[in-house]
Amino acid sequence: MLFIVVFCVVMSAYFSATETALSTFNRIRMKGYAEKGNKRAELVLKLADNYDSMISTVLIGNNIVNILSSSLSTVLFGLIILDQGLSTTVSTIVMTLAVLTFGEIVPKTLAKQFPEKFAMFSAPIIYALTFILWPVSIIFRGLQKLLSKLFKNEDDKGMTEEELISIIEEAEEDGGINEDEGSLIKSAIEFNELEVSEIFTPRIDITAVPSTVTKEELAEVFSESGFSRIPIYEGDLDNITGIVYYKDFFTLAYNTELEISSIVKPVMYVTKTQKISDLLRDLQEKKHHLAVVSDEYGSTAGLVTLEDIIEEIVGEIWDEHDEVVLDIEKISENEYIVSGKASIEKLYDEFDIDPETEGDETDAMTVTGWAMDVLGKVPDEGDSFETLGLSVKVLKMEGRRIEKLHIVDNRESDSDAATEEKPEDN
Ligand code: ADP
Repeated sequence: MLFIVVFCVVMSAYFSATETALSTFNRIRMKGYAEKGNKRAELVLKLADNYDSMISTVLIGNNIVNILSSSLSTVLFGLIILDQGLSTTVSTIVMTLAVLTFGEIVPKTLAKQFPEKFAMFSAPIIYALTFILWPVSIIFRGLQKLLSKLFKNEDDKGMTEEELISIIEEAEEDGGINEDEGSLIKSAIEFNELEVSEIFTPRIDITAVPSTVTKEELAEVFSESGFSRIPIYEGDLDNITGIVYYKDFFTLAYNTELEISSIVKPVMYVTKTQKISDLLRDLQEKKHHLAVVSDEYGSTAGLVTLEDIIEEIVGEIWDEHDEVVLDIEKISENEYIVSGKASIEKLYDEFDIDPETEGDETDAMTVTGWAMDVLGKVPDEGDSFETLGLSVKVLKMEGRRIEKLHIVDNRESDSDAATEEKPEDN
């Protein structure tokens, strides 16, 4: 009888550890093992896919052995201690302590340390038990279904974007996917939310020509700017009437009688608030590469090309003729040179700033706009300010726009403790 009691406590430990292991193992890692041909890992995934049936089996098994061990131990203690009241009390105390310690706490703690290993170890037995305990388990699952119908959670609307992103970050930390794969997937998820206003080239940077342009002038503009598409306007930039393509111009018009006006292609207009995922589809459908961005008053705010959109998924693309200008360049441990054109989001990302919690509410899209907001004026070279633990100095202006800023991150010393635990990726 003693042997059966001990055996029941061992089985209780086994069921408890299995419950923890099968509920907490890392799915991505398990899939990796299964793909390498590990049959037990395949079985674990199969069990996890039928979570309800697996958990019912484990709980039924655990309860059977726990109740059996308690009943037998009462009988056992009754044989040793003749006073019935005392023997029942002793048996209850001993069994509660034994089951709690050896049947629950110890196995659950150990299984949490090595959930994958333990899940693979226990899978075949649990799989067999799901068949043996099938009739009992079906009754309990019916009860489960009834209860979940009665207490249906109305708020359960599936997975949110934030949850999806944190799953990817977890997978990156666990080594299930590497950093490049992770950032590609995250960009693809965030891509859906981005608007034209966050990626377009502003009006001040547009290279365009008036419709009165001569062929020599246009050839000069193409070769100097290096752009392959130049917008053409009547009067001023607010009235862009079409686009001239580099190839069309040099192959059809430059050395021939053909007028520039006959090679001008129609232009597509978009608003600043259009989602770039929709714009991508529109550009593909209409076979355009460039769209002019207009603001709420109907004037030209800037332009956006396919390259600007694709860069949001795959990162910066440098053309052969592009001048390589880094938006944020780290020059020493806590010093940075930042371009005034850089997007404010990039700045927040680089310095790990959450504008909402840190109260840095700005409507600006670029670092120049942000500095203007903080300074409250058009900056001059040499102007400086302190914000969010950063010392910012305007190094160089380009007209009314900042070309370069110097930023010193004074928060480094405070966050040393944090960075020691989790080294920053550069
Ligand atoms: P290209 O093929 O002419 O190099 P891309 O489509 O590769 O042009 O775009 C590269 C970058 O240049 C993008 O950020 C885009 O917004 C910008 N761009 C393209 N054409 C012009 C233009 N005519 N004037 C100003 N910026 C432009």
